Amino acid sequence: MGIYKAEAIVLRSRKLNEADNLITLFSREHGKIHAVAKGVRKPKSRKRGGVQLFTHGKFLLYAGKSLDHITQCESKNSFAKLVGDLELFAHASYLAEIVDGLLAENEPQEEVYLLLLTSLHLLEHHNPELLARAFEVRLANLLGYSPQLTECVHCGKTMPVKQIKFSAALGGVLCPACWGQDSFASRCSLGTLGALQQLQRMDLRRLGVLKLTPEIRREMEKILRLFLSYRLEKRLKALDFLQMISEARDGYTTGSLAATKDDVFLEQGKEAKSWNEDAANEVAERQDTLGRNVTAEN
Ligand SMILES: [Zn+2]
Repeated sequence: MGIYKAEAIVLRSRKLNEADNLITLFSREHGKIHAVAKGVRKPKSRKRGGVQLFTHGKFLLYAGKSLDHITQCESKNSFAKLVGDLELFAHASYLAEIVDGLLAENEPQEEVYLLLLTSLHLLEHHNPELLARAFEVRLANLLGYSPQLTECVHCGKTMPVKQIKFSAALGGVLCPACWGQDSFASRCSLGTLGALQQLQRMDLRRLGVLKLTPEIRREMEKILRLFLSYRLEKRLKALDFLQMISEARDGYTTGSLAATKDDVFLEQGKEAKSWNEDAANEVAERQDTLGRNVTAEN
């Protein structure tokens, strides 16, 4: 392919060596691409701003024998608000990691690309939790495995019925007669079923009109995460990150846990050592990005 252009979002950035990073791009034209950004770890690198996490921009790449190289990049939007806020950052990381985990390399998925781009924009203004749920449902739809919500996934009985469970393994709701099909199926209230159905079809810009109880939010989160983890066949690192933030946030009210953003990251770094090395590096990269941005803002 030689030299080629791409409009893309930075999904992931990892240290390759002292000077270079390995970047995972999600491009509109070519799908997911792994490419080396030479010299970006040097403070004076001109490319540096263009390859930060979540940056949306235009890229000029060179197809090498084993890996592609980013030769030029021009940032259109760096989503500074997402990088500067711990909770938004964690949610944006989660969206990027699902896309990275579910999509194969070099397979263009323009609708998924537009969903991610829209979601990053909306994340700056909407409830991040609800947006993540909507993203999960819509992504599953686009990838061809939308959860079955209108009839029992086993016998075909039309929903809603009085009591419903959701089977992540079977990919849809079960009527009481079919609960035996999956002993791990989780509770799904009528409110949760209705909310999931709405997320499948509503305009994402109107998410703010959905008023959901904490119970419905919790049920939706559990159902969709299990559902997606079946398709991903691995645990997402960003989930640990989100979990830690919510624990730290709860701790903030009782005063027992780290309260400031810096402390949370310090805790995060410590925790990371007990994960595998890859996860630890990833956390360090996130920490690095966030730290850099916070410094730049001050
Ligand atoms: Zn049934």
